[in-house]
Amino acid sequence: PITLELEGVTRQYAETTAVDDVSLAVREGEFYTFVGPSGCGKTTTLRLIAGFETPTSGTIRFRGEDVTGVPPEDRDVGVVFQNYALFPHMTVAENVAYGLTFADAPGGVPDDVRVDELLELVDLEGMGEREPDQLSGGQQQRVAIARALAPGPDVLLLDEPMSALDAQLRERLRIQVREIQRELGITTIYVTHDQEEALAVSDRVAVMRDGKPEQVAPPRTIYRRP
Ligand code: ADP
Ligand code: ADP
Repeated sequence: PITLELEGVTRQYAETTAVDDVSLAVREGEFYTFVGPSGCGKTTTLRLIAGFETPTSGTIRFRGEDVTGVPPEDRDVGVVFQNYALFPHMTVAENVAYGLTFADAPGGVPDDVRVDELLELVDLEGMGEREPDQLSGGQQQRVAIARALAPGPDVLLLDEPMSALDAQLRERLRIQVREIQRELGITTIYVTHDQEEALAVSDRVAVMRDGKPEQVAPPRTIYRRP
């Protein structure tokens, strides 16, 4: 089944066509990555999917339902940005619980139980009382992922979540992100400028150029041009 569909989606800013007539479909449970150089339209595409931007034209569908004009809080998405910083004055557990401010935990589970469950999922068991500045960059990003996952969204959106980390932490985090994704089976859309990273984590990769995917394929076949 298809979780997410873009049909003829364009986003124009004055002179710039950031996203140019993009049509694509992301399957349920898929890890789908947009990769390409700076300025090719990756972040704008993700923001359109999240609902932070509205297309100039075209349609976005979640599970077949038109959500084109629907605000982010009414889309079933969890979002992690590169610099979507944690609240520094809150503990790790409070940061994760913040993800439940506007939505209930799935299955009506109490918030504290849900927080413990998520900390275990992101491999931060027992770290709930720490402050964010006591954690490594990779640990902080896992807290941000736990916060995004708290209400049990249908789709997880990750925009360059590793770009602030050094090479070793990046590699560890990308393995952890993939494990979390597999464990939940959650449809995940990932944005990176790093080809190696894209090829390592994804089920399918959309190679973006000038506002549209020039190739969409599994990592093993992505560089084989006809
Ligand atoms: P350049 O030297 O022109 O910048 P790169 O190899 O850096 O070339 O590629 C530019 C963009 O094109 C990158 O985003 C990359 O992902 C994409 N790309 C490179 N080679 C291929 C290929 N064989 N098939 C599809 N996309 C490619
Ligand atoms: P990427 O994430 O691949 O680096 P972006 O989606 O951020 O690319 O940007 C695509 C193009 O749209 C770029 O030329 C960028 O300058 C432009 N753009 C993005 N957001 C805005 C905006 N809010 N106003 C004007 N231009 C924008």
